[in-house]
Amino acid sequence: MDYLDNLNPQQREAALYTEGPLLILAGAGSGKTSTMTHRIAYLIEEKGVNPYHILAVTFTNKAAQEMRDRVESLIGSGVNMWILTFHSACLRVLRKHAQLLGYKKDFVVYDPTDQKAAMKNIVKEMNLDDKRYTPAYFLSIISDCKEKELDPKQYLATYGEDPKTKIVYQAYRSYETLLKKNNAMDFDDLLLNAVRVFKQDEAALLEYQNRFQYIMVDEYQDTNFIQYTFIKMLAEKHKNLCVVGDDDQCIYQWRGADIRNILEFEKDFPNAKVVKLEQNYRSTANILAAAHSVIEKNRGRKEKKLWTSKADGQKIAYYRADDERDEAHYVAQQIDHLKRKDLRYSDFAILYRTNAQSRTFEEALSRRDIPYRVLGGLRYYDRKEVKDIVSYMRLVQNPDDDLALLRIINEPKRGIGARTVDKLQALARVRGESLFDTLMDEEVVSGLSAKASAGIRSMVEVIQQYSKEQSNLRVSDIYDGLLVGTGYLKALEEQNNLEAESRIENLMEFKSVIYDYEKDDEQLSLPDFMERIALLAEVDNHDESENAVVLMTMHSAKGLEFPFVFLPGLEDGLFPGWRAFEKEDGLEEERRLCYVGMTRARERLFLTSASMRTLYGKTDYTRESQFLREMDKHLIDGDAIFEKKKEARNSRSLDGYSRETPFNPFDQLKYVKQQVRQRAASGETFQVGDDVTHPKFGRGTVLKASDKIIEVSFRDGSVKKLAAGIAPLTRY
Ligand code: ATP
Ligand code: MG
Repeated sequence: MDYLDNLNPQQREAALYTEGPLLILAGAGSGKTSTMTHRIAYLIEEKGVNPYHILAVTFTNKAAQEMRDRVESLIGSGVNMWILTFHSACLRVLRKHAQLLGYKKDFVVYDPTDQKAAMKNIVKEMNLDDKRYTPAYFLSIISDCKEKELDPKQYLATYGEDPKTKIVYQAYRSYETLLKKNNAMDFDDLLLNAVRVFKQDEAALLEYQNRFQYIMVDEYQDTNFIQYTFIKMLAEKHKNLCVVGDDDQCIYQWRGADIRNILEFEKDFPNAKVVKLEQNYRSTANILAAAHSVIEKNRGRKEKKLWTSKADGQKIAYYRADDERDEAHYVAQQIDHLKRKDLRYSDFAILYRTNAQSRTFEEALSRRDIPYRVLGGLRYYDRKEVKDIVSYMRLVQNPDDDLALLRIINEPKRGIGARTVDKLQALARVRGESLFDTLMDEEVVSGLSAKASAGIRSMVEVIQQYSKEQSNLRVSDIYDGLLVGTGYLKALEEQNNLEAESRIENLMEFKSVIYDYEKDDEQLSLPDFMERIALLAEVDNHDESENAVVLMTMHSAKGLEFPFVFLPGLEDGLFPGWRAFEKEDGLEEERRLCYVGMTRARERLFLTSASMRTLYGKTDYTRESQFLREMDKHLIDGDAIFEKKKEARNSRSLDGYSRETPFNPFDQLKYVKQQVRQRAASGETFQVGDDVTHPKFGRGTVLKASDKIIEVSFRDGSVKKLAAGIAPLTRY
């Protein structure tokens, strides 16, 4: 029982309280997860419980693995027990019992891509307007329904008979039929069907109730309704359910997590014992107090205050950078300074709000030769959408680049399958020409399916057009034109889900990359630019080993801890994110996220913001985050000025245009589309004699204008023929 000596009296009480419902409600770093781990060890070692009878549920696979490791290190041997995420626990139940619901034993699990493909067929069969009714639209409603345990009929009954509801109902019903026919379940079905098994078959439920005499759930505040039902049913018999959580750390409401599950635990289990842990073992007193000064601004929370026996420690460092490059430079420099011999790079974490922010840090760390790794995501230049669009740009520079073409030939989907690609490649090889040359041959293309041939024709046209005109265009014009002209952006917009939104954010952030170079060199050519980013993408210090600075989003850092934590981008519109300004409760959820981020730090916490930021290709003055303004100023060191600097109190763009809500990637998206559209109409709008300006060539006068070519005489004496429809001309 030695290991129990490490626990404080409350933790010990919780670990030893094994019979009956138990709620451990406590703030960050108070040892909730450790207590749970000790409790498992105690059950096995001291109470002689067979690990077979224990179920522990965690939020992520990584957390499950960590818990398993910790238990094993306590009891000194391998354990064969269910320490799993919700999804994997349900999958195990269903592998055994899905036949009850009419599935075959070897049912398949549909991932989001499969789901979309299935739904696409349904939309087609229903003859719906696929602009208005996208697969993503239906899928997101269906997912919501499944989380609330509503089948199609119940959905209809709940939301009434208006025409739109009826259409959703039909799509939902067909989707269910199709999945069933294919012997398939989607991710939401895993939970839903496990609960259905329990509801329909008493024997099956009893089997698991008997098996799982002791059940534990970590991060309980982030469970949704169906997860809650799953656990509640399992625990009904023995009632030895221990849930662990912190209402202040509920950060998944946008995915249906319901904070009430934790607040109402005592109602569900009237004789539940509640243990509160109040000592924080993770952070210095200053970090803890600063985090508390933020979270206490949330309304409707259970007040709880943590204490620590640790020293105050250093104050929270705050740096107001000039711009995002300066910010990243500061962070890399601090890491360089602080990295003593006895520290590892993995003692440092940079936790950002959105994935698109990682780019500047990756660059700054590489420049200083500091190894880093991106956890729970890819480094910027490895992200699919970034690679895709870079491939398009490579093709514009050189259409004979077969590798680039192969990457995007069916991206967005153009109905060109792998077999077709093989055939086309074989043909190109026989003819001894590039794949692009083959695609330019109308005879070849017309032999393909209608969809594929149309797709290829329009792709070839766009690439040729920009390829020919590249010397007359800025890199940013080419980029915008490709995003819109290839249909890439549109395909993402139609997906209309969070993953697609994040991809759009990354693509808009690529505008910042271009802007960075164009700012210094107005004549920047496409080949120059491609050369520079090839270097950037290659020369980096990405290091998968354990000894590397950790970059990740605050969301994925839940439950983890690091001696040194950097939270960058503390600006209104970035953190709190711009979405928080549009949604009720949005701000409170962001504040909880801020609390999660701050409480990851053990020794030192660094906050940064940039007074001017180029994000999504747009440069703006920023306003310091509301969270900074809320923080207790005594705890902050550095140029913590807040009021001191004469700086825009309102978000204001450089062109003096001021707006209520901060700039966001979708503003940029609108702007890009508008620009491309305007240019497309330019052939008709310009007339002989018009005074115009061109971003590369300056002022000039239109000599000739047709719907194909606009001929302009520029002030430097040159006369240029520009392609109407893509030339970046504006009337002067
Ligand atoms: P979070 O809310 O972030 O998930 P938590 O409440 O689960 O935090 P843990 O991760 O379990 O907290 O513990 C935080 C840190 O405190 C860990 O490093 C852990 O080893 C340490 N710790 C927990 N309890 C004790 C204790 N009684 N004595 C010393 N250290 C402890
Ligand atoms: Mg924890």
